[in-house]
Amino acid sequence: MSDPLLPDNAIEVRGLTKTYAGSKKAPPKTALKGIDLVVPRGSIFGLLGPNGAGKSTLINILAGVVNKTGGQAYVWGRDIDTDPRGARAALGVVAQEVTADVFFTPRESLEVQAGYYGVPPAERRSDELLAALGLADKANAYVRALSGGMKRRLMVAKALVHNPPVLILDEPTAGVDVELRRQLWAYVRELSDRGVTILLTTHYLEEAQELCDTIAIVNHGEVVACEPTAQLLRRLDTRNVVVTPEAPLTAVPEIAGFDVTPRGDSFVVAYKTGQSSVEQVLVAVRAAGVRIKDIATEDPDLEDVFVALTYGDTSQVDPTRDDAVVA
Ligand code: ADP
Repeated sequence: MSDPLLPDNAIEVRGLTKTYAGSKKAPPKTALKGIDLVVPRGSIFGLLGPNGAGKSTLINILAGVVNKTGGQAYVWGRDIDTDPRGARAALGVVAQEVTADVFFTPRESLEVQAGYYGVPPAERRSDELLAALGLADKANAYVRALSGGMKRRLMVAKALVHNPPVLILDEPTAGVDVELRRQLWAYVRELSDRGVTILLTTHYLEEAQELCDTIAIVNHGEVVACEPTAQLLRRLDTRNVVVTPEAPLTAVPEIAGFDVTPRGDSFVVAYKTGQSSVEQVLVAVRAAGVRIKDIATEDPDLEDVFVALTYGDTSQVDPTRDDAVVA
């Protein structure tokens, strides 16, 4: 919805580059190679990418923790170069590592954080936040007595003390159990319903699929896809059939109409769910003269997705290139 008082884009990044200076031991590293990204106000936007893709670098630049090398970045319409305080005030960031102030209770921890952001006492809402994150009965507990999940929820509460319109969650559910993951997802949706724009980074396609309306995929410092979730998922409709032949093969068989890659004593046939079926794959495998001992089917994992989107046909990836390994 267009509102003249609010920016259309919660985050906007143009030609953003970052090269970390090298050292005696390491050469300079370009982590972002001119990224363009627009996060519309009100969206739940997923930033997906393997380790080393550049996600943290992007977030840290937006949060004012890392200096960019080039390009522009705006948070809530505020230029991080000319209005860094304004940009920071519009942003809450939940970091990946769980850090807890062991000397404060959860309520004190929120009060201190609110003070840090200059929120006047009358406008603080520590108890509301504690309640919203299921920590009301722990308000005065020792932080070290909280479980890992509770600490993580406290970190979300801390990121919200100054009521930012934009919230970044960096790998919010890495290493958390299923129940807590569901709780955090529910809370993210609630925040979104209240109008908070959310940018979340994740390794998990499932998580992005569950929560996000738009997904951007980053790899090697570049945005390789940025689309509405449903549209992106339709492009990822490749499934694999892993075929183990009765007798070991001396060469990868040619299977008419399908891409085939070797894997140990087996080989993998990729097919598009919209265009063919396991049955058709098996017919083609038999027609190629292969006697089948065993088969298994596989859904694509995120690694396949990155490879497919980054390099097109996976069979063209040169496995000797170190950047072919994207896990
Ligand atoms: P991600 O968050 O997607 O895992 P990062 O932004 O952490 O990716 O890293 C992107 C690239 O930049 C990686 O190759 C990483 O090694 C490099 N990098 C990150 N931080 C630094 C740093 N402080 N100094 C040098 N290189 C860095």
